[in-house]
Amino acid sequence: MRKLPTWKELTLAGIITEAGNSVEYKTGNWRTLTPVVNYDECIKCGVCWSFCPEYAWEEGEDSFFKLNTDYCKGCGICAVECPRKCIKMVEL
Ligand code: SF4
Ligand code: SF4
Repeated sequence: MRKLPTWKELTLAGIITEAGNSVEYKTGNWRTLTPVVNYDECIKCGVCWSFCPEYAWEEGEDSFFKLNTDYCKGCGICAVECPRKCIKMVEL
């Protein structure tokens, strides 16, 4: 399987901005790592949701937070901030 470059290895990236169009940009396309939750350890606190710069976590009916891969860019902030350390960043 081809190994994708990390974001630091990318030579060029950018977004063309017009007011109100950010929802059209699937920032998940940039992702080389993805967060995976161990829901056995999750306490449904929502810290992952509150720290995510892309609002990529969505609260489900069971109150667990699920990832919207269209917008998760794989930055890893959620894994760092999770108080239970139950989010692991894995390569795609
Ligand atoms: S921050 Fe961690 S413990 Fe809290 S809801 Fe997210 S995954 Fe669960
Ligand atoms: S890796 Fe970054 S963009 Fe993806 S869900 Fe976590 S904080 Fe949000």
